[in-house]
Amino acid sequence: MPQILIAGGGIGGLAAALASARAGWEVRLYERAGSFGEVGAGVQLGPNVVRCLEAWGLGGPLRAVASFPDRLQVRGAPDGRVLGELDLGAFAGRYGAAYATVHRADLHALLLAAVRGLPAVRLHLDHALAQHTQDRSSVAVRLLRGDGAEVLVESDVLLGADGLRSRVRAALLAEAAVRPAGHLAYRAVAHQRLLPAALRSQQVTVWLGPRLHVVHYPLRGGELLNVVAICHGQPPQDLEHWDHAIHAAELQAVLAGTCAPLQELVRAVPEAGDGWRLWPLLDRAPLAGPREMAQGLVALLGDAAHPMRPYLAQGAGMAIEDAAELQRALAMDAVEVPLRLRRYALNRWQRDARVQRHARRNGSIFHATGPLRLARDAALRLLGERLLDMPWLYRGGPVPPPAASQP
Ligand SMILES: Cc1cc2nc3c(=O)[nH]c(=O)nc-3n(C[C@H](O)[C@H](O)[C@H](O)COP(=O)(O)OP(=O)(O)OC[C@H]3O[C@@H](n4cnc5c(N)ncnc54)[C@H](O)[C@@H]3O)c2cc1C
Repeated sequence: MPQILIAGGGIGGLAAALASARAGWEVRLYERAGSFGEVGAGVQLGPNVVRCLEAWGLGGPLRAVASFPDRLQVRGAPDGRVLGELDLGAFAGRYGAAYATVHRADLHALLLAAVRGLPAVRLHLDHALAQHTQDRSSVAVRLLRGDGAEVLVESDVLLGADGLRSRVRAALLAEAAVRPAGHLAYRAVAHQRLLPAALRSQQVTVWLGPRLHVVHYPLRGGELLNVVAICHGQPPQDLEHWDHAIHAAELQAVLAGTCAPLQELVRAVPEAGDGWRLWPLLDRAPLAGPREMAQGLVALLGDAAHPMRPYLAQGAGMAIEDAAELQRALAMDAVEVPLRLRRYALNRWQRDARVQRHARRNGSIFHATGPLRLARDAALRLLGERLLDMPWLYRGGPVPPPAASQP
């Protein structure tokens, strides 16, 4: 059985492990952290992503932990006016899968449960990939264990799913490190039952203000409310520690000048949950070609390949789509392995780059000021649903094929 070594056990790495096993490959996954886990925040998953999870038999586990909001509402942050709406409840009929919102830890856990116990998958914690070299037939990988010991491993393929500051990518592409995008994300999760009734919500709401926006949506069948506020600003110097607890007062100052319901929500959230955390957003230019996703026997997936701004809510989604495409490519038994990876990259890079570009553009539109803001608001009021729906995104993307054999 051919072997794939995956560096990184985030949502992308676990999806890739599942996909590779279903393609008939033996998987060794190495995660740097001492335990598997995800930060306490939510992700939105479009029908393009839910379709992949369903094809992997994860529709049931997803339904058990996710929320399926039936409306997206866009409101002006300064005055609270409704600018536009999208009927998310129609998505299952329109796109063949629903629009879901899910706690990251729950999504991560359901992927982990799916790969744990597969005889073809071996999971290793506390192993950081340090280096790799490849020749025509294999990849040699050097890992460092938490106790400092060095581990040398060979594999037929190396997949870098090691996130924004990917070591695999750094060795593959001579380029600068990720840069601060100039935006900061404040995130919090609140128990809805602890919020005042007027602030509870079962829909996706996006509040647009000058140089900022706020998004909130339900998680865990509506038990929790995920709130993200994004504004312009520079991160602290120490980028390694990019997940900071912050005082609510900091965010309240950013949102001074927005309407009362939004300010009330920001004030109420810390007491109904674990408080606010700050994430400086980091960025790269969109992918420019397939060589940025695969060379020879080494490939990249998820944030390692295409970190993106969160304004289209598709970063984890594109990692899952990458994994679905990887499954198709790895399953092509009659084709040489480097060509399979090349096909994976060829089939993915343009869509990933389009999503990266679209997310950037959304950021400018969301945070618009002056005449652009007035034009945006007028267009949303006039065209609402037509502007907010994105058939190219929700209808597109790969669907993983059935498993090659029992993985
Ligand atoms: C504010 C915000 C909101 C977002 N909202 C959404 C959303 O609504 N929908 C959506 O789809 N996406 C969203 N995203 C994007 C999404 O979070 C990411 O795109 C996604 O988590 C990337 O997954 P990944 O597995 O590629 O990388 P990561 O989650 O970064 O995982 C990488 C893993 O690799 C490990 N690792 C790192 N280096 C090494 C090494 N050398 N060796 C071994 N292991 C290593 C890390 O410990 C980690 O476990 C959002 C992002 C932000 C910042």
